[in-house]
Amino acid sequence: MSQLLEVSDLNRHFGSGKYQVSAVKDVSFKLNPGEIVAVVGESGSGKSTLARIVLRLLAPSSGNISFMGQDVASLSTTDYWRQVQAVFQDPYAAFNQFYSVKQVLQKALGLKKLNTQERRERMENSLNAVGLAPATVLGKYPHQLSGGQRQRVMMARALMLRPKLLIADEPTSALDASLRVSILNLLKDIRQEYGMSILFITHDIGQAYYLCDRMLVMYQGEMVEQGSVEEIVRQSQHPYTQRLLADVPKLH
Ligand code: ADP
Ligand code: MG
Repeated sequence: MSQLLEVSDLNRHFGSGKYQVSAVKDVSFKLNPGEIVAVVGESGSGKSTLARIVLRLLAPSSGNISFMGQDVASLSTTDYWRQVQAVFQDPYAAFNQFYSVKQVLQKALGLKKLNTQERRERMENSLNAVGLAPATVLGKYPHQLSGGQRQRVMMARALMLRPKLLIADEPTSALDASLRVSILNLLKDIRQEYGMSILFITHDIGQAYYLCDRMLVMYQGEMVEQGSVEEIVRQSQHPYTQRLLADVPKLH
């Protein structure tokens, strides 16, 4: 077993009869330990549906997922979520508005068996890792933080559990352009420091190029192309990928 994650023939449809939408069609891919892999595609291509299935927030219509060589259906979600964590597009929506940063982080640590001292260290280390000063932010509530700070808190929360896989679904989309690069750099640092794998979901192939080792391209629910970022940028095979690339003149 060398793969961290293996997704096989995943399908998910919504609705039925003539109203049926196939959001994910026969998607298969593998993720190695420590790899950052992008899922790239335009809005509606099935990226979030795929992410939610891999996170086990949504059941697939058919297909299999194995994590560290085990069928995830045989793992409890509690065990799974100790190892697979996520950050989403809108960090404000992911926050409970009545919880301070400290409460948010403490609640996440509920999944771990740690004493008070260890809990405090975990919280402080994770906040430091995402570039936030614990003393400054622990007592704050979401409305007292900037969008960039909220996304960093969400990352700190995910990191506290020392997951083996982080799923980041458009984590920079709600942020100003000036903050995007800093969040991408943070993801790079996190991979370096924690050695985790990241499944990075984006509609922006430029971000995938900047951050990732490999790319999976989704189009209307299908995975139309996958390969190393270099391969895809230099010689993409699929016209849809070429169209995405054409939108990023800098890459050429
Ligand atoms: P993306 O994240 O790439 O924008 P999504 O996975 O959100 O794409 O959506 C893929 C398709 O599945 C879209 O056509 C969307 O409307 C549909 N879809 C997603 N979630 C649901 C749902 N809960 N009910 C019905 N259709 C859905
Ligand atoms: Mg989405």
